[in-house]
Amino acid sequence: MPATQSKDYYAILGVKKTASAEDIRKAFRKLARKYHPDVNPDDKKAEERFKEISEANDVLSDEKKRKIYDQLGFYSDQIDPAQAEAAARGGFGQAGRGGQQGVPFDFGGFDFSDFANQAGAGGRHQASSSGSGWGGFRDIFSGIFSQGGHEQHGPQAGTDLEYQVPVDFWTAIRGGTARLQIQRQEVCPTCKGKASTGGSHTCPECHGSGQVTQMGGRMKFNIQCPQCGGTGKVENACPTCHGEGTVTRTEQVEFRIKPGTRDGQRIRLAGKGNAGVNGGPAGDLYLIIKAGTHPVFTRQGDDIHVTVPATVAEAALGAKIEVPTIDGRAQLKVPPGTQSGQKLRMRERGVPSSAHEGKRGDQIVTIEIMVPRVQDERSKEILREFAKLNPDDPRATMWAKV
Ligand SMILES: [Zn+2]
Ligand SMILES: [Zn+2]
Repeated sequence: MPATQSKDYYAILGVKKTASAEDIRKAFRKLARKYHPDVNPDDKKAEERFKEISEANDVLSDEKKRKIYDQLGFYSDQIDPAQAEAAARGGFGQAGRGGQQGVPFDFGGFDFSDFANQAGAGGRHQASSSGSGWGGFRDIFSGIFSQGGHEQHGPQAGTDLEYQVPVDFWTAIRGGTARLQIQRQEVCPTCKGKASTGGSHTCPECHGSGQVTQMGGRMKFNIQCPQCGGTGKVENACPTCHGEGTVTRTEQVEFRIKPGTRDGQRIRLAGKGNAGVNGGPAGDLYLIIKAGTHPVFTRQGDDIHVTVPATVAEAALGAKIEVPTIDGRAQLKVPPGTQSGQKLRMRERGVPSSAHEGKRGDQIVTIEIMVPRVQDERSKEILREFAKLNPDDPRATMWAKV
C-alpha cells in the first residue's frame, strides 16, 4: 500500500515547533498575503504554495488538530485524538507485517489468533494476505476511526474581491463613471464549473486501493486516501481550469460614482466578485474610493477648506473680495478688523452630500493677510504716521499672561 508523504507544517509556515497560536497566525497571514492567487494571477507555483500554507495553517491553527499532528507527524480527520495519544505513547507493538486491507492498524507483534478464530467463525472473513481471519477485526476496531466520508463537493460561494480605485478630485465631487481592470475567478467555460470533464481514472495517490499508510509513532495507520476520499478513483480534471472549476479572467468594470463620494467610501457591486463553484453564488466586488487632491481646495468630508490672501487695507477696513469655490468665483464679505488666520464660513458652498439628497457642506475660508513690501517714501511716511496714530502695543495681552 502506498504511503502518503508527511509534510512538515512548521517548516512550511517557517515557525518553530514551540510557536504560539499568535506566531502561527502571524506567519500564515504574512505568507498568505505573499502567495494569494489574487496577488499572483496565473502563477501555478504560487497557487501550490498557497494551498500548502493554507493546509498547514488549517491544522496548526486548530488546537485539537495540532495535537494529533504533533503526536503522529501527520493529520487526518479520521483519527480520534485518543488513538493518536495511544500511538504517541507507543501502546501498540512495532509495525511488522504489511498493511492489511480494511484493518486500520498494523498489529504486527501481537498474537490475535484466539480472536481471529472467534471472528472467523462468524464467516466474515475478508481476503487477507497473512492468511488468518483478520477481516473480523475490522468490526471490532471500526469504532476507532470515525468513518470520515468523501469530501463534499457541493455548491461553494465565491469569495469577495476588494480593489482600491483612484478617483480624481472633481469626479469624486461631481460624480461620473469610472473604469477599472480587475482580475476575478469566473466559472470555467469548458466544464461549466464542474471541474471535471466526466469519466475517471485510477487515483494516483493510492493506486486504486482507496487507502494509504501513515506512520504514527511506532504504529502504522491505514487511512482513507485524502485524494480520492477512499473511492480509489479520481475524476478527470478539466483541462481548461485544471480541476478548479473556475478560471482567472481580467475584466473591465465600469461603475457609477455618486456626486459627493468621499475618500475611503466603499462601493459594493453585488455578484461581481469571484465565481462560486458547483453552482454556488458569486462573491461581491468592493471598490474603495481613493479620492484625489487639489492644489487649492482641501476637502474634509463635505466641507471645502481654502486659504485666501487679503491686503492689510481689505482686512482692516473690510471689503467684498472674490474667492474661488468649487462652483467658480464667488463674493465673500470680509468684515472690518479681520485678523490673519481668521476663518470665514460660506454656507452651503461645499460638496453636495452623497448620503443626504439636497444637502451641501460649507466652504471655510482662512484669511491670510499679506503685508505690503513698501518701497516708496510716500507709503513709508503714511505708515509711520499710522503708527503714531495707533500706539497700542499688540503684545500687551501676551505680556499680561507671562
Ligand atoms: Zn486515492
Ligand atoms: Zn473547467
